Amino acid sequence: MSKLKLGVIVGLGDNAEEALKKVHDLALPTCQLACWQPMHYTRENIRKVRMLSDRYRVGISSIWAGYPGPAVWNFIEGPSTIGLVPRKWRKLRVQALKQGADFAAALGVPTISTHCGFIPENPKDPVYGEVLAALKDVVAHCRRKKIAFTFETGQETPVVLLRCIEDLGYDMLGINFDPANLILYGKANPVDALDVIGKYVMGVHAKDGFYPTNGRELGKEAALGDGKVNFPVFIPKLKKLGYRGALTIEREISGPQQIKDIDKAKRLLGPLL
Ligand code: MG
Repeated sequence: MSKLKLGVIVGLGDNAEEALKKVHDLALPTCQLACWQPMHYTRENIRKVRMLSDRYRVGISSIWAGYPGPAVWNFIEGPSTIGLVPRKWRKLRVQALKQGADFAAALGVPTISTHCGFIPENPKDPVYGEVLAALKDVVAHCRRKKIAFTFETGQETPVVLLRCIEDLGYDMLGINFDPANLILYGKANPVDALDVIGKYVMGVHAKDGFYPTNGRELGKEAALGDGKVNFPVFIPKLKKLGYRGALTIEREISGPQQIKDIDKAKRLLGPLL
């Protein structure tokens, strides 16, 4: 069985050189490129990212496409701010996601990934239908560009994501599976969640963390190996399901400690690949 590749998520921002060089300096072969500001989807960045990914020999597995407006990562403000759920931001965000797909297509990157928000658990909730309609619009655009659209796990239970995929009925849909997020949001045990959405996994974040301990705040993210994700069980199960994509390390801090934690993640994941 072929080995999985490691990667890291890096932000595009206004310094493409810094982002791609960071992947290279970490001696990782792949990355997901995150971009929250559609203003960074420029021709100049397409040119630069192409040139830099060649220079540093870094493959880009996905464009992690963010969107304008507020996103508050907790249980109180989150449902009314994140993703395609808030009506106020929906149109702009659909546009931003389409721009993300255009950017990916121009770079020859096969997928985009995003957080769609706290999609209602109740399929009869009118917001569910609204989010689905917005997603249909985004996904139809992705399809025209031959780009797969992937839901990053987090705000939804696995079964909600499964239902969305079924209801959208397109072939180029998948999951950017962040095992830590399922824990931080208290939505599922990631190993078991693979029973529900495992066959749709197209990307994976190698991140770790703890369950919430109050009803307002997410659980705490942690260095890989320190949290509740059982990687020695999770990764073989992923491989058994046929997953052959990248394991993209994500550590939500910056500075020297982040680099130390990424190195530790590489050491722990290496024997599991
Ligand atoms: Mg993630």
